Amino acid sequence: MNELKALCVYCGSSSGERPEYAAQARAFGAELARRDIALVYGGGKVGLMGIVADAVMAGGGRVIGVIPRHLVEKEVAHAGLTEMHVVETMHERKTRMYELSQAFVALPGGFGTLDEMFEMLTWAQLGLHTYPCAFLDVQGYYRRLRQAMQHMVDEAFVRSPQLEGVWFGEDIDALFDWMADYRPTYVPKWIDKSAVAP
Ligand code: AMP
Repeated sequence: MNELKALCVYCGSSSGERPEYAAQARAFGAELARRDIALVYGGGKVGLMGIVADAVMAGGGRVIGVIPRHLVEKEVAHAGLTEMHVVETMHERKTRMYELSQAFVALPGGFGTLDEMFEMLTWAQLGLHTYPCAFLDVQGYYRRLRQAMQHMVDEAFVRSPQLEGVWFGEDIDALFDWMADYRPTYVPKWIDKSAVAP
C-alpha cells in the first residue's frame, strides 16, 4: 500500500474484563509512535481509547482525536492530544476519521467499535475505499465475530474475498507486515436480480 501516515483505531470506551486488552492497546499505541504513524481515534480519554492515545503520546507520537460536541460536554474528551477535531454529529465524526486515515484497526470494543468498523468494511465492499481493515484479536475476543462473518459467507450474504481481505490476529508486528504488503481485493457486491420483484 501507499505510505501509511495515519491509522484509525476503533476500540472500547471501556477497558474490558481482562488486563490483556489494556496491555495490547498500550503495546499497539507504543508501536504506532515508534513507526511514526499518527493515531486517529474517537478522542475519548476513557477505556481502551484513552489507553491507546496515552501510549502514543508517551512514545512521542502524534494523536488526532475526532469527537462530537455532546461528548466533549460530558467531559470524556482527552485534553492532551496533538490535535482535537470537534464535530457536530456522530456521522461527521466517522467521516472525518475516515478522511484522515489510510488504515482501520479495531481493538476489542463494543457496539460503537463494531459500528465504526463495519462501516469501513461496507465502504470497502462498495469500492469507496481501498484501505486495509483489521481486527486485533486480543485473547480471541473477535473469534466468534469471525465465525459469524464466515457464516454470512457460507449463507451467500457476503462474498468470500470480502472476508478474506480482512485481517484477524493478535501479533502486532504481523499486522504491520500485512498492512505494508496489502493489495486491495475489490470485488463488487453482486446484485441478485432474481430477488428483485418485477
Ligand atoms: P464502544 O465500543 O461501544 O465502547 O464504543 C467505542 C467507539 O465508539 C469508539 O471507537 C468511539 O469512536 C465511539 N465512542 C463510544 N463512546 C465514546 C465515549 N464515551 N467517548 C468517545 N468516543 C466514544
